[in-house]
Amino acid sequence: GPKSQSLFAQSHSSSLARLLSTLAILEQKDGVLNTGSLGAVTAGQKLGGPVHGFVAGKNAKSIAQEAAKVQGLEKVIAAESEAYERGLAENWAPLLVENIKKGGYTHVIAAHSAFGKSILPRVAALLDAQQISDVTSIESEDTFVRPIYAGNAILTVQSTDPIKFLTVRQTAFAPAETEGGSASVEEGVDPKVESQTEWVSESLAKSDRPELASAEKVVSGGRGLKSKEEFERLIPPLADALGAAIGASRAAVDSGFADNSLQVGQTGKNVAPQLYLAVGISGAIQHLAGMKDSKVIACINKDPDAPIFQVADVGLVGDLFERVPELTEKLAR
Ligand code: FAD
Repeated sequence: GPKSQSLFAQSHSSSLARLLSTLAILEQKDGVLNTGSLGAVTAGQKLGGPVHGFVAGKNAKSIAQEAAKVQGLEKVIAAESEAYERGLAENWAPLLVENIKKGGYTHVIAAHSAFGKSILPRVAALLDAQQISDVTSIESEDTFVRPIYAGNAILTVQSTDPIKFLTVRQTAFAPAETEGGSASVEEGVDPKVESQTEWVSESLAKSDRPELASAEKVVSGGRGLKSKEEFERLIPPLADALGAAIGASRAAVDSGFADNSLQVGQTGKNVAPQLYLAVGISGAIQHLAGMKDSKVIACINKDPDAPIFQVADVGLVGDLFERVPELTEKLAR
């Protein structure tokens, strides 16, 4: 009857209020909080319950003080140990398992970054749950939206797992504000599991330009540039004139015109800048998958039938070897 129904509704909502809580995994590098992972906090806030942040590494306590200022966090849990400094999944997984159990979290969220993608599936497996990857929207506490088939279909997933593990697409959740919050800081449990894996070294592509995944503007070059020499002659000056990051199509990367880290698309990075300028790129669906959410899409292509024109807000039909130097010069002026 109506009475039992309302009783049910009441106990249901009060148990939710008690139980729903989120752990947002924050990334750090060399003692600095990586703001790229703050979309996880924003996603956690959409769920409604309290959101705790998690940091680990050799300077975790000082990073936790920084993270405590992030808006939307109630608590920051810090695990200070050299073992977690390099973000090795083998070390992090048992650490997170213990802290998730201790905190009784219903949701665990990380950015859909190399770090999040490497760590979260292990943690989910250890806790017998299925990870939901690359989430672009949170519909409710158990229902999430994610693109599949390179963004050609959108899947709405409902999960019955007791703990939901999500990686969230950075371009879909604005980073939480890094000032104004006042979270408490708490020491996490450290299982000190001995790992067989050791960090040896990393080699990073260094650049003074804005970082591709979070840049406001991106200039990408494709196979139309013909060679590495032409790519390097034409694309960096145009990007610099615009203050843009550099991207590339897979064909350009595979042909050796540009570094692998610059690839935009299904098997590269997802970008959603204010301006995306595609130069000598045809606009294959696998490329569009990584950039079609850009605010303004512009292109330069000599073939008026190239599919890139179908998604472009502004298109220039012309020979890039003439148009790019002309545009660069005008912008520089
Ligand atoms: P092309 O398709 O060769 O296009 C070159 C363009 O340059 C043409 O439109 C041409 O008209 C134009 N052009 C040539 N000369 C000039 C000139 N002088 N002036 C102006 N315009 C000129 N691709 C990605 O980009 N990212 C991905 O992540 C990705 N993942 C993939 C995953 C899978 C599983 C598969 C099967 C493919 C994937 N691809 C990806 C590849 C994709 O299908 C295309 O092959 C690729 O995007 C093409 O790159 P492009 O546009 O640079 O080259």
